[in-house]
Amino acid sequence: MSFAFQSVIGQSTVKSRLLHSYKEGRVPHAILLNGQEGTGGLGLALGLARYLLCENKGEEDSCGQCKSCRAVDSLQHPDLHFSFPFFNQTGSEKTFSDDFMAAWRKMLLSTTYFNTEFWISQITKDNKQLLFPVHEANNIAKKVFLKSFYNGPKVMIIWMADMIKEDTSNKLLKILEEPPAQTIFILVTESMEQMLPTVLSRVQQVHVPLLQQQEIEAQLIKEEVSPERAQLAAAFANGNWWKAQQFAENDDFNEGLDEFFQQWMRMCYKKDLFQITEQSNTFQGWGREIQKQFFEYALEQVRQNLMKNYVGEDLVQMTPGEWEFATKFSKFINHFNVEDLMNAIAKASYYVARNVNSKLLFTQLSLDVHQMLRRNTYA
Ligand SMILES: [Zn+2]
Repeated sequence: MSFAFQSVIGQSTVKSRLLHSYKEGRVPHAILLNGQEGTGGLGLALGLARYLLCENKGEEDSCGQCKSCRAVDSLQHPDLHFSFPFFNQTGSEKTFSDDFMAAWRKMLLSTTYFNTEFWISQITKDNKQLLFPVHEANNIAKKVFLKSFYNGPKVMIIWMADMIKEDTSNKLLKILEEPPAQTIFILVTESMEQMLPTVLSRVQQVHVPLLQQQEIEAQLIKEEVSPERAQLAAAFANGNWWKAQQFAENDDFNEGLDEFFQQWMRMCYKKDLFQITEQSNTFQGWGREIQKQFFEYALEQVRQNLMKNYVGEDLVQMTPGEWEFATKFSKFINHFNVEDLMNAIAKASYYVARNVNSKLLFTQLSLDVHQMLRRNTYA
């Protein structure tokens, strides 16, 4: 595995900002990389760690050849430390992140893009709660006060630091207030809402933006996903590389389509004009193939909801997520409106293939669908 900056997809602005602060000699002793799932926060943290520890840094990246880089790449660098949420193992008095280090290394050596659900699945089959107990903060302190092995800086990466609760945060705060020499903390978070203001005031915050659709698409193609599938997966991933990979590997894209469909039905029902306009913009940006695929999905969902009402629930084919939505939604699909609904969607799909203004088309369709969903007698 290479934990170079260049292994991180996109994020050129963040990379140059981090490199710039190094060149200016202004690397803060605590950095917080905050960005939504699948944007690359952890990869950037590792990229920065490898750069800081590298013995032969280049302008843009660490060398990848020196003793230090090789140790980072195999996750065996004695001055690179990790802390992350875990669950309490039954039978042991105190559990630390170190108790899960083997699983952590194994996962990182395959990818730096994953979410907390995936992490849990790597360490337990049970439904467990992840936590950062107070004694984990003591564990962090113990590690960073060790003498540096390579006589260079020490780096402590704390993944999902936003899951740290107040009592643990207070301990961590003490370490951040009086940090040991030559130690850089890199906190990786997905949201800052839960973070203590006192902790936030001690770190330099760096925003990790959503990936661009083209960046995701290009990367998928590089990884030998077909161009059609790459385009579709990138469109539905919402800037999240983790999600994009799931879509690209999945045989159908229902997971991305269902979210959009369900939002769409809710806003049509409410006639939420602001959201309809927003969603029409998104729809317009998709390109014709995806637009058609979405309408096909919408038709199938209307059909399945009708079946649920009239034919029998055991014949319905839905994912658990679609089923949950259908428990409320199917009430609005009935014999008074279903024919018009399906005709309207099919007609829109026909026009999409004929190059009409897809934003106007989607807006008009949404308003028509609103009328139809509200109908419970024959028009
Ligand atoms: Zn190096």
